[in-house]
Amino acid sequence: MDSDFDLIVIGGGSGGLAVAQRAAEYGAKVALFENAALGGTCVNVGCIPKKLMWNAASVAHRLRDAVDYGFDVSVQNHDWAVLKKKRDAYVHRLNAIYAGNLEKKSIAYIARRARLNGGNGVVADNEEFSAKHIVIATGGYPDVPVLPGAEYGITSDGFFELERCPQSIAIVGSGYIAVELAGMLNALGAAVTLFIRFEHVVRSYDRMLGETLVQAMKADGIEVVTCCVPETLQKTDKDLMLRVSDGRIYDGFEQLLWAVGRAPCSRDLGLDSAGISTDANGYICTDQYQSTSAPGIYAIGDVTGRAALTPVAIAAGRRLADRLFGDMADRHLNYECIPTVIFSHPPIGAVGLSEQEAKEKYGDSVRVYESVFVPLYYALSDQKPKTIMKLVTLGDEGKVIGCHVIGDGADEMMQGFAVAIRMGARKSDFDDTIAIHPTSAEELVTMR
Ligand code: FAD
Ligand code: NDP
Repeated sequence: MDSDFDLIVIGGGSGGLAVAQRAAEYGAKVALFENAALGGTCVNVGCIPKKLMWNAASVAHRLRDAVDYGFDVSVQNHDWAVLKKKRDAYVHRLNAIYAGNLEKKSIAYIARRARLNGGNGVVADNEEFSAKHIVIATGGYPDVPVLPGAEYGITSDGFFELERCPQSIAIVGSGYIAVELAGMLNALGAAVTLFIRFEHVVRSYDRMLGETLVQAMKADGIEVVTCCVPETLQKTDKDLMLRVSDGRIYDGFEQLLWAVGRAPCSRDLGLDSAGISTDANGYICTDQYQSTSAPGIYAIGDVTGRAALTPVAIAAGRRLADRLFGDMADRHLNYECIPTVIFSHPPIGAVGLSEQEAKEKYGDSVRVYESVFVPLYYALSDQKPKTIMKLVTLGDEGKVIGCHVIGDGADEMMQGFAVAIRMGARKSDFDDTIAIHPTSAEELVTMR
């Protein structure tokens, strides 16, 4: 095998695949090292299998609502094993497609763990490989708190291995993964208890979103235990028992899932030998061009600790390849105004500054518009879940600097509004846009 390349990529996830393929399209000679399944977190234990589970949960909601629309439906059972088998088969198909794409682009796919060799290359299974440029795209892994009995809990990785739906599950955490998995498991039949440290969830986003989601989760039957920090987890003959810091004890759980954040895969990479700096949490420090502190070595994606999202890793990777091999000297990713969706039930879509962030930054020149309504879809049902939308605007010209939505359809709504906001749309542009009726999204262009 050849051992000298233009580009070596460590990690075959969202970011690594993107940079490798874009570089190869420019004619670079590329090697990609990946010691697990191709596609990384997103494809194997993240976005893709997660979204399929979210779809299944959404079908459960639709089946529940079908009666209100006159359908004679009664659901006896959900076969988790069937869903898992089909989901896993789809993921395996994707793994094979990724391998095929690498081959088509003449990228050397080396299915081994790699580490930096301290020079201008990497070592894998005692074999040395060199390159002019090296990209570290090794991603992250789920964090588990350090406390007695923590090992009895699973993480999101373990969630995807579950062969059946647990009858009861405790979920600890309040970020994306905690609320997404809580909603899915609840809809698919598990009794879910969510343990959070404060009063509401997804606290890095607009407060309205997290407060509304807690109300919605409770209305859907999820038990939410607030203001508690887990202290010990015990396993008895029949179940798991969680003790929290003020002495409260909760038991009867078949499973407990930690969803308390993720950590970077940056150990055992030989970063010290290469002179690469990390922050206190082990994330690789990079500048705006994804350069690390070592010349010729770059890092992208989750391992850099900046906006841990698949499209961000891909965009950073592609721009880096454009810069290194496509003659675009200043090409880099702007990390501001990144749209995101939290696949909770109901989903959340957000882009730009939250109301709190905007007021902290701009004070009184911020104006906020809000709309609260029950979507037409629920006109025929007894349950009346609310959708809430918020626009945050700045100054006399009313530039829209934040858009936050919780409610059905928020997931598919946000992408288009993100384009408008990135282009600098003003509230008056929203107002001048003709509404599409009857939709929930029209509320965003009719707010007063
Ligand atoms: P990864 O995709 O994690 O890829 C890193 C790869 O590097 C891995 O395959 C690993 O095996 C490999 N590797 C590590 N060390 C080495 C080594 N020494 N040698 C060789 N290979 C190595 N994002 C979204 O945008 N939307 C979502 O809906 C979404 N849902 C998610 C759901 C869950 C449950 C999780 C956990 C994450 C989700 N994410 C989502 C986040 C998204 O998956 C990540 O941001 C994205 O995968 C990061 O890509 P990456 O290339 O940085 O790392
Ligand atoms: P997050 O960082 O989103 O949330 C974890 C939260 O758990 C913390 O913010 C904290 O919230 C709480 N927490 C931390 N430590 C503890 C503890 N010891 N006990 C109890 N609670 C604790 O992490 P996730 O693991 O949910 O997700 C990781 C990242 O992956 C996300 O940030 C996102 O970038 C990405 N992702 C994206 C998805 C999407 O795009 N839809 C889906 C899933 C993941 P608090 O301070 O409120 O207690």
